[in-house]
Amino acid sequence: MEEKKEGGEEDRQEAAIVGAGPAGLTAAYYLATKGHEVKLFDSFPKPGGMLRYGIPNYVCRRKVGPGHPSHSRMGVKFQGNTTVGKDISWTS
Ligand SMILES: Cc1cc2nc3c(=O)[nH]c(=O)nc-3n(C[C@H](O)[C@H](O)[C@H](O)COP(=O)(O)OP(=O)(O)OC[C@H]3O[C@@H](n4cnc5c(N)ncnc54)[C@H](O)[C@@H]3O)c2cc1C
Repeated sequence: MEEKKEGGEEDRQEAAIVGAGPAGLTAAYYLATKGHEVKLFDSFPKPGGMLRYGIPNYVCRRKVGPGHPSHSRMGVKFQGNTTVGKDISWTS
């Protein structure tokens, strides 16, 4: 299914999301759906949060995140290995 973007150019804003776990990925998806420019930061190298790093692979398959077509098609960017508040500031 193709995701549809809503809103005009004038409504478009930049959004930074700290944490690419299920909550951050969900927020990114819906913000991108509204046409906003979304960048996700996470301390871990890959998105998925505890679903990727806390749960064994046989319990949860690791096919989540901006590597997934539903996010990358919508232009969501991901920057891993970045702890906000340590590697970059909260205000940058
Ligand atoms: C061992 C274990 C087993 C589980 N089993 C199940 C299960 O079977 N079924 C189920 O439904 N749920 C399970 N859960 C729960 C599920 O993993 C959580 O409910 C879910 O991951 C919460 O999502 P979240 O996005 O809120 O937080 P998280 O998944 O914790 O993601 C938060 C992300 O934010 C990042 N982050 C935090 N602070 C910063 C910062 N300052 N800068 C950059 N990045 C930051 C972290 O690195 C992390 O990747 C399990 C959890 C654990 C720990």
